[in-house]
Amino acid sequence: MVAEPTACPIPDVLRRIVIVGGGYAGTTLCARLGRALKRHPRDDVDVLLVETSPCQQALSELDLVAAGTEPADFCELWLPAVLKGLPVRTCFNRAGTIDCDQRTVTLANGQEVGYWRLVVASGAVPAVPPVPGLAERAITMWSVADAQRLQDRIREQMKLAASLPYAEDRRQALSFTVCGGGASGVEMAGTLGQLLPKRAVEVGLDPADLNIHLIEGKAEILPSLPAVQRTRAAKRLARLGVHVVTGSMVQSVAGGDVMLADGGQVPSAVLVWCGGTHADPHAEIWGFTLDESDRIVVGSDSKVHDLADVYALGDVAAFRDPMTGRELPMLAQFAIASAKHASVNLLAELDGKPTAAFVPNLRGEFVSVGPSWGVGWMWKLNVSGIPAIFMKRMTYVLYWWQVGGLRLAWRRGRELLAMQR
Ligand SMILES: Cc1cc2nc3c(=O)[nH]c(=O)nc-3n(C[C@H](O)[C@H](O)[C@H](O)COP(=O)(O)OP(=O)(O)OC[C@H]3O[C@@H](n4cnc5c(N)ncnc54)[C@H](O)[C@@H]3O)c2cc1C
Repeated sequence: MVAEPTACPIPDVLRRIVIVGGGYAGTTLCARLGRALKRHPRDDVDVLLVETSPCQQALSELDLVAAGTEPADFCELWLPAVLKGLPVRTCFNRAGTIDCDQRTVTLANGQEVGYWRLVVASGAVPAVPPVPGLAERAITMWSVADAQRLQDRIREQMKLAASLPYAEDRRQALSFTVCGGGASGVEMAGTLGQLLPKRAVEVGLDPADLNIHLIEGKAEILPSLPAVQRTRAAKRLARLGVHVVTGSMVQSVAGGDVMLADGGQVPSAVLVWCGGTHADPHAEIWGFTLDESDRIVVGSDSKVHDLADVYALGDVAAFRDPMTGRELPMLAQFAIASAKHASVNLLAELDGKPTAAFVPNLRGEFVSVGPSWGVGWMWKLNVSGIPAIFMKRMTYVLYWWQVGGLRLAWRRGRELLAMQR
């Protein structure tokens, strides 16, 4: 049984910065502010992180836990370890309500916390469309708990298949379908394609009985990558035994099958939904102005529209790229970059200086297709294969280093080298 969080000590200070959400954006911000305030201590300032869990979940590597070869803590970054020794206090509780007139956040246990500046970094949730049978049957991929659920389902299906005498029944029991051909869907399907045959051999099953599909409603997978990289990714998936089905939407899910709008039927004993995300729905409950995709409207300095003392960062914020006029995609690299910038702005505000505009810069994008191969681009150069997967993994080692220092980066590097491929 999980104990109800107790009230947090709230010191009486003049200027409290409350950060709601300790994901990529919130953790980066806490680490940055904490280090700056450690270098130049100020006793009139309090930084408080409100986060539901003491572990940040590294969502971008969930597929490795989901495939069942890595333990859950492979994807968990312990916040007390990251923030140890820094003047940042943590309160592991849920932000319930926010009152921007009174400048207060009320936690789930009823405790009220006043703020001088509030940073909303509460991320996003999976968006599951109202397709008959989908919500009941599909496993979403948005937390370590989701990844563990998939791990368990893989184990159950392997046990079931091992007990079945006919190949046709085993192929149905070992049918795995991933819906959504964006980065997270391709990563999931690629990891299943690469690791499940090894698991099957280990438990005495024939890998030829595995039946893995990736379904994408649009004409192509990975729309954000250059065409040549999309083709490479599709070829790699085919080589891993993943059947890619594009151009038809999922219409219903029933009896272990996914029915497609074009009449197709895909056997799916295990179904994983990676088909879309939605900004944290609390953004609406908290009364912020939202754009058409339900993300919080922010200005060029990441402050919430019409609110001089509230910032929104990461997936929950609708930040428009001044170069393209388009909303930034929901990516960890933008969450991290916007948080670094917000730390500079908050420190400037503490000194009574004006804030500056955030200028995002997408330097590259990498997608893994199986744990040991990837595609992507960097500085306008297409990169694929081992160099691409190396770059993808290094981005996150770098993240661990930026928030937790050399010790955590070293641990992460070792874990990545030791992981199964
Ligand atoms: C499977 C998967 C793979 C991905 N792969 C990549 C990738 O390869 N590269 C990439 O750039 N991006 C990737 N992404 C996207 C990336 O993970 C997100 O863009 C990133 O996590 C956004 O960071 P954030 O800080 O805005 O939100 P999050 O990291 O989601 O953090 C939000 C935090 O807020 C907390 N929270 C929410 N509500 C409350 C509340 N009321 N009170 C207190 N705390 C609250 C949550 O517990 C959570 O810790 C992937 C996402 C998924 C799901």
